[in-house]
Amino acid sequence: MTLGYSLFATRWLQAPLYFGLVAAQGVYVYKFFRELWTLIVRSVTGQANETYVHESHTAQDALDVHDPSEPGVEARIRDARFPARKLLEEFDEEYPRVLDREAVARLGGLDFVTARRNVVFVGPPGTGKTHLAVGLGVRACQSGHQVLFATAAQWAARLAGARSAGRLSEELADLDARPLLIVDEVGYTPLDPDTAHLFFQLVAHRYERSSLIVTTDRPLSRWEEVFGGAAPAMVDRLAHHAEIVRLEGDSYRTRRVTASWTE
Ligand code: ADP
Ligand code: MG
Repeated sequence: MTLGYSLFATRWLQAPLYFGLVAAQGVYVYKFFRELWTLIVRSVTGQANETYVHESHTAQDALDVHDPSEPGVEARIRDARFPARKLLEEFDEEYPRVLDREAVARLGGLDFVTARRNVVFVGPPGTGKTHLAVGLGVRACQSGHQVLFATAAQWAARLAGARSAGRLSEELADLDARPLLIVDEVGYTPLDPDTAHLFFQLVAHRYERSSLIVTTDRPLSRWEEVFGGAAPAMVDRLAHHAEIVRLEGDSYRTRRVTASWTE
């Protein structure tokens, strides 16, 4: 009887302790979901930037713990092989003489990636085509997408290598793991028909399946100069679901040189 009574009393004494533990866990779980939610909302609305992603340790750490195979933002950016880290926030939209600024803002929301649409930046050298392409790519990495950047010449070499190894189809299928590929500097050199056909296969394979960003100094109407007979069918697929963003203006590179001369 006495034993039963004292056990009963101890249980009641322990109750506040249990309650405290449950409450503490509850607070942690609540904080985690709140941060996760903010992260998702920011990613979806395209407001996630590096600073925010680094600040949200609770959510990021917990995600890493839950799925160690999922690479983090930094790993995705490294893996994308950008030539330099350029952010959309660093782009001076006032500089180009011609630019659809609304289109750039809209693209920054990354809906084009989830909608499997393409983006083509067309304009003369130094107008910021690569900067914008990398800026969108970095943002896609921050939102959890895998990206791969290469110049048209590098893509040509990669695809030709796969073809001669008899694994072009596998290579194209492997690239499906990346919802966004960037093909920089299309048009600087005319391509032989074999290489042009490789690009056609890349574009045809990704058509309505995943996104491409292409930068070029040549309007699509002149792509026959680069891709020959493969051009019309290729441009047709590339441009069907695409945002074509035209840039015009002086080269930003020479602006900097001139500015430092006059200083
Ligand atoms: P393109 O690919 O059109 O030849 P880039 O994107 O390589 O031009 O731009 C050349 C350099 O100038 C890069 O260092 C880029 O970051 C910078 N740049 C170009 N346009 C702008 C801009 N409007 N605001 C800030 N930097 C710019
Ligand atoms: Mg460039």
